[in-house]
Amino acid sequence: MNDGTLYGVGLGPGDPELVTVKAARLIGAADVVAYHCARHGRSVARSIAEPYLRGDQVEEQLVYPVTTEVTDHPGGYEGAMEEFYEAAAARLIAHLSAGRDVVLLAEGDPLFYSSYMHMHKRISGRFATVIVPGVTSVSAASAALAMPLVEGDDVLTVLPGTLGREQLADRLRGTGAAAIMKISRGYADVRAALKDCGRLDQAYYVERASGGRRQVIERAGDVDPAAVPYMSLVIIAGAEAAGHPVPASPGPDGERDTGPGRVDVVGLGPGGRDWLTPQAAAALAAADDLVGYAPYVDRVPPNPRQRRHGSDNRVEAQRAEFALDLALRGRRVAVVSSGDPGVFAMASVVLEAAAADSRFAGIPVAVVPGITAAQAVAALAGAPLGHDYVTLSLSDRLKPWAVIARRLAAAAAGDFAIAIYNPASRSRRQQLADARALLLTHRDAATPVVVGRAVGTDDQQVTVTTLRELDPAQVDMSCLVIVGSSQSRVVRDSSGAARVITPRRYPG
Ligand code: SAH
Repeated sequence: MNDGTLYGVGLGPGDPELVTVKAARLIGAADVVAYHCARHGRSVARSIAEPYLRGDQVEEQLVYPVTTEVTDHPGGYEGAMEEFYEAAAARLIAHLSAGRDVVLLAEGDPLFYSSYMHMHKRISGRFATVIVPGVTSVSAASAALAMPLVEGDDVLTVLPGTLGREQLADRLRGTGAAAIMKISRGYADVRAALKDCGRLDQAYYVERASGGRRQVIERAGDVDPAAVPYMSLVIIAGAEAAGHPVPASPGPDGERDTGPGRVDVVGLGPGGRDWLTPQAAAALAAADDLVGYAPYVDRVPPNPRQRRHGSDNRVEAQRAEFALDLALRGRRVAVVSSGDPGVFAMASVVLEAAAADSRFAGIPVAVVPGITAAQAVAALAGAPLGHDYVTLSLSDRLKPWAVIARRLAAAAAGDFAIAIYNPASRSRRQQLADARALLLTHRDAATPVVVGRAVGTDDQQVTVTTLRELDPAQVDMSCLVIVGSSQSRVVRDSSGAARVITPRRYPG
């Protein structure tokens, strides 16, 4: 049997789209996927590779024994690490000897300040080894800055921030451009060195340089040394390249606009997680800001990364403009509606606001559909909307009652089943009684009627009644009313529950 091959696969700086085609292919084809991680088991490298994993591959977690330099190993920190690397290499070697190909994941590039090297040194002499280069954080950071890094005769120096203040300042004096890596522990020294050599003003700090939403760009002088994470570096442009302006200045709270934002108008469904589509859940998870009528915003589980803007029910146009303004500043905004956003809800309001102001011309607006109340109530009652039906809102807040009455009469005359949204509210008490009276001039008093209240929530209630017995006093704004056609009828299921059916056939 042939030995397996070791692949040292660079994954780039974090954005799954910056994984090379070759890396993605090899990850998908590997027998064994290995990665280093701390004791908590989470691995940045694995999360970047996730979209390309097959799901049935052996995963080898190489779990670091210590993440700080405190250990009771007789050889101290060095001894503990040496033992760990030997054991990890032995595990990979066992796979390779058994003929299995091993992909060892590395963030960025595998041969650029990467823990991959410890395995490479121990294995590459004995087994075939292939390195797949990755986009380094240096390239990702200068791309994030959209700043020319080196031009013409500029020299680029890559420095570990751990060199100490004096050495760093010396090296910085002797170079044009510089990238300073590993700055999380000694940022105060890095900043002092930049100041010593008079280059602090030209230096930029970049955190999570993958173009993702958590990317941060700041002037190096403005950074709090206590808040510098591991995934960060400092970039200084070379003398020639430094003549170019840095295009975008850091935005509020250090979060830079990483390109235009966007607005998703998201339907939450009538209530409950089961009635939220995966697409809607994904749009909510990706959002930086949630905008909507406060009770709807409250239905989205809290995420500390997000800002929530709940508002009154009556300010739809301002709410839409507010959302578009946020997007203009680079934010990804989810405007939430209950049910479907296109049914008496925010989708048309947002699209109108976007079209009304040329400032918003470049902002993508997507409508993410949801299960509308009519479908949800109908499903719980049987199939009352099984034939042609009309969707009608009884609210006269945005259209005159005369129009509502005319449409209701037309729907009744056309013998449509009718799904009535906004049948009543605390202040609108008369409309449903008037609608019922009007419908009774066209329909039999025994016509089945369904009243669904807060369906999909814990307070859900579905009542099957008739046009004669419908009591408007029992209906409020959390209800949807379905009035059957002349063909709708009620059957009882085995448990005795009423099922409303509007057949697909129509006589004549
Ligand atoms: N966009 C929503 C409708 C907004 S209009 C949708 O597609 O469902 C608000 C009206 O929708 C309410 O007055 C009520 O008639 C109906 N509605 C919304 N959610 C409901 C629910 N969970 N149960 C019953 N009716 C609901």
